[in-house]
Amino acid sequence: MPTASFDLLPNANPKADTLRDGILANPGFGSYFTDHMAHVRWTLDTGWHGHEVRPYGPLTLDPAAAVLHYGQEIFEGIKAYRHADGSIWTFRPEKNAERFRRSARRLALPELSDEDFIGSLKALLAQDHAWVPTPASAADECSLYLRPFMIASEAFLGVRPSQEVDYYVIASPAAAYFKGGIAPVSIWLSTHYKRAAPGGTGFAKCGGNYAASLAAQKEASAHDCSQVAFLDAVENTWIEELGGMNLFFVYRDGRVVTPRLTDTILEGVTRDSVLTLARDEGLTPEERPISIDEWREGAASGEITEVFACGTAAVITPVGELVTENERIRLTGGDGNPIAKRLRTKLLDLQYGRAEDTHGWLTRLV
Ligand SMILES: *Cc1c(COP(=O)(O)O)cnc(C)c1O
Repeated sequence: MPTASFDLLPNANPKADTLRDGILANPGFGSYFTDHMAHVRWTLDTGWHGHEVRPYGPLTLDPAAAVLHYGQEIFEGIKAYRHADGSIWTFRPEKNAERFRRSARRLALPELSDEDFIGSLKALLAQDHAWVPTPASAADECSLYLRPFMIASEAFLGVRPSQEVDYYVIASPAAAYFKGGIAPVSIWLSTHYKRAAPGGTGFAKCGGNYAASLAAQKEASAHDCSQVAFLDAVENTWIEELGGMNLFFVYRDGRVVTPRLTDTILEGVTRDSVLTLARDEGLTPEERPISIDEWREGAASGEITEVFACGTAAVITPVGELVTENERIRLTGGDGNPIAKRLRTKLLDLQYGRAEDTHGWLTRLV
């Protein structure tokens, strides 16, 4: 694949090395940004053009820009990992590029090619590679989180797809997503609010889905839970996923079950990778509907030994309990989440180049 060519407008005032090193020593998640951003513009007449890497900084948007009023926006999340030899890699970017096009179609935005999507990551990293943290050990899962996004920028208050669109990639150094590392998290079950409905935008990675999940997220926080689990909108019965992560259930007999994909579930790259790694590990992956009753009963009987959530940001995180208005569903069978830990180590070893890339999942950025 040829690499798209991006013009460079260098940042005349990049952060000083000492300041950057201080940030990289304790980056948190999503709080600091690198010196540059990638940008490509689209207009109905010209298509994609104006590929550039320019200084990171505020956007100039007309107050009538469509994204500000009707939420025509999509995004992606993908990480850059530094390997022991200093080289920088990313994980299955063609999957994110493909999903970005699926999201674009649903939000009536223009589709971006693999060449431009992966090219934008390479072009940004060519400038900002010093921002990719170096892991101190295999337990240190630091990375540079990359956030490609696309917005409707045409200044027009009528309701129709925007004829001017901007695509950007920004980058933010990241430590582990949850402060507790792989300590099991408590999840709130939203029985009132729904994340997605059939025919809606649940399968697309769009800001609107997240905006709609925030009220449920507030309920979760009020119950000391860090995330929300959503049930299907039609029967209020079937487990879908968390606000930003897919869910897996581990059974005593080695089955590893995740809800089957529908248009109300976001198809995670981590989810797909876990299904493959589970098979590699001699487990039995299964994609099928799973109900809240099955979770409750499996937890009580010990048939379900582990529950975990997965996504690029948080990798694989064990779920300790599911909290609802009137019950707390805790696992009684499992002990210490060994399968979640094993799959997590497998995945991280691959991403950081500590294990052989047998599936051809890595793409070198720098
Ligand atoms: C991004 C996202 C995920 C996880 O996808 P990954 O590709 O694994 O990072 C899961 N659910 C939702 C709703 C998401 O937005």
